[in-house]
Amino acid sequence: MGNEIGGKQTKIIVLLGRPGSGKGTQGEFLKRDLGFVHISTGEILRAAIHENSELGLEAKGYVEKGSLVPDGLILSLISDRLTKLVGFVPGVIFDGFPRTVSQAESFQQILTSLGIGSTFIIELRLNDAAALCRIEGRKNEAGSETRNDDRTEIVAARMEVYENQTRPVVDFYEQLGVLRVVDASGDRESVFHRILDMCGVVSNNGS
Ligand code: ADP
Repeated sequence: MGNEIGGKQTKIIVLLGRPGSGKGTQGEFLKRDLGFVHISTGEILRAAIHENSELGLEAKGYVEKGSLVPDGLILSLISDRLTKLVGFVPGVIFDGFPRTVSQAESFQQILTSLGIGSTFIIELRLNDAAALCRIEGRKNEAGSETRNDDRTEIVAARMEVYENQTRPVVDFYEQLGVLRVVDASGDRESVFHRILDMCGVVSNNGS
């Protein structure tokens, strides 16, 4: 496992963490400063639902309940995108994927088949109360997009799904010895700098 992001090969950053831990925000910051492509499976699914595409129609019922969409749908989506990007971009940030141990295992196989060695797995660790508080805050923020699944009862379902299905993914990477944990409490910029420090990177804009 390398300690620094550098070199020519396409790098992978995976952001894990419960809903509200800041994966989307930090993914955008990393994209801005490192020039990586940011893939948010949640964003892709929301856009597909909005467009009523085939993927959207298949995913809608799951997303609106706060459940996970089937692994097969997600894996073909990820594999298609990654295959097109590897070798052409400096790196790819995944936010919201992998979300089940089965997705994580298949992801390992996809990475191996594409010859990707450098992968940074980061857990944004935040307690339940702080995460709920952020989601509530986001609902009231002027100009922020209202997510259908940010309704209180659906948030509770998403938190439970995280505990049951995604926390085991964190354990999976911990057992592989590749998990890096970042304290996700505090303001966005502080968390961002903790991530950069963890990856041994200094941001481009000197912030
Ligand atoms: P959050 O992490 O805040 O819950 P996301 O935007 O990552 O939000 O995901 C929103 C929803 O999209 C999830 O509740 C789930 O229904 C679906 N989803 C996103 N990523 C995945 C995935 N990797 N596997 C299955 N379902 C997913």
